[in-house]
Amino acid sequence: MCNMNATESHIAREARFGARNYAPVPVVVDHARDCLVWDVEGREYVDMMSAYSSVSHGHLHPRIVAAAHRQLEKVAVTSRAYYGTTLGPLLEKLSEVTGFQRALPMNTGAEAVETAIKCARRWGHRVKGIPDGRQRILVARGNFHGRTSTIIGFSSEEAYRSGFGPFCDGFQHFDYGDMASIRAAATPDTCAVLIEPIQGEAGVIVPPPGFFRELREWCTANDVLLIDDEVQAGLGRTGKWFAFEHEGIRPDALVLGKALGAGLLPVSAFCADDRVMDVFLPNSHGSTFGGNALAAAVALEGLRVLEEEGLVAQCAEKGAYLFRRLREVQAQVQPLVRDVRGRGLWIGVDIDPAATSARDLVERLAANGVLSKETHDTVIRFAPPLTISHELIDRAVDIFHRVARERHHELGLDRRRNQRAIIA
Ligand SMILES: *Cc1c(COP(=O)(O)O)cnc(C)c1O
Repeated sequence: MCNMNATESHIAREARFGARNYAPVPVVVDHARDCLVWDVEGREYVDMMSAYSSVSHGHLHPRIVAAAHRQLEKVAVTSRAYYGTTLGPLLEKLSEVTGFQRALPMNTGAEAVETAIKCARRWGHRVKGIPDGRQRILVARGNFHGRTSTIIGFSSEEAYRSGFGPFCDGFQHFDYGDMASIRAAATPDTCAVLIEPIQGEAGVIVPPPGFFRELREWCTANDVLLIDDEVQAGLGRTGKWFAFEHEGIRPDALVLGKALGAGLLPVSAFCADDRVMDVFLPNSHGSTFGGNALAAAVALEGLRVLEEEGLVAQCAEKGAYLFRRLREVQAQVQPLVRDVRGRGLWIGVDIDPAATSARDLVERLAANGVLSKETHDTVIRFAPPLTISHELIDRAVDIFHRVARERHHELGLDRRRNQRAIIA
């Protein structure tokens, strides 16, 4: 490894000793502050990805780091065998911001989704009266709810499933955004609908207006729990505290993760009212690290920062600005960018696969100082920290414009467009 620069040697070490389950963009991050990231060569990047929405507060927010330091002077991990001084305040704050009576803390998003699945099944049996073992949960095609063996069993993504069977029974698919398909998939054994308010991994898919209102009515009429997975959408990302507010509805339960850890730690939670949460009794469910003292202190400070710095309202305004600017770029590189969609600071830019792949542009963006991430072959995802400034949005969009225009030109797409214009 003697002739390698720092970037190459770090990449080589991860590639040599790590499992090959990721294909990272070739940037070696050394340190970061708020919306800027620096690599081991000292190059600067605008973070337009924020670790899939985990870093909504910006990297190493000083108030959150200070809260972590304070807690590290006291105690970090105790397990739920005892009470602590930070978990109660976090649970109370979660109840205040979500409107749900109770929360069950876990660590990763997938664990909170697993908690939701267990809760829905037990509720289906004990409250709704479905024979145990027959409970069914409706899930959307194109869903992403995490990577446990139960959850990937109901993914419709072949790469997530292939070779990992046998899969868990009790899930039924419907088409996202389509009420008729939900009605057709339901049976008397249906206990819950588990759904994302916007499908992130599927390519930032926003459902048709009115869909969630209809779904809410249908769930109520059929005694089915509406479980809203806001691991990525929640805590301000879409310009409201929770994405369900855009449709003026309330789900029966809410799954949170990613930004709940305030950019420092994995913290997740399953939130619901007594009538649902009461199916959990001592010994029925748990997690050694879930709700640990350090995680709770960090998550609590993260929620306070969101509230006291007005980050949710800022996200709505800055998201509209980013959206408008990306639409302007789209107009200028027309066949290359097919669509710009999303809500708040969560935007998918859909690339025409006949021109190039999203990954190609993501790598070119990184080489020019902008961190983003593709999802599937065609969508570039932009989801910067909610703290981003208009100046940094401009910097990132200007670079995207330049990279897209160059690629557009290299591929001869501008010529084709001009020819079409001449023929027309
Ligand atoms: C990321 C994500 C998860 C899984 O969270 P992990 O922390 O990676 O386990 C679940 N649901 C949604 C909607 C997500 O975006």
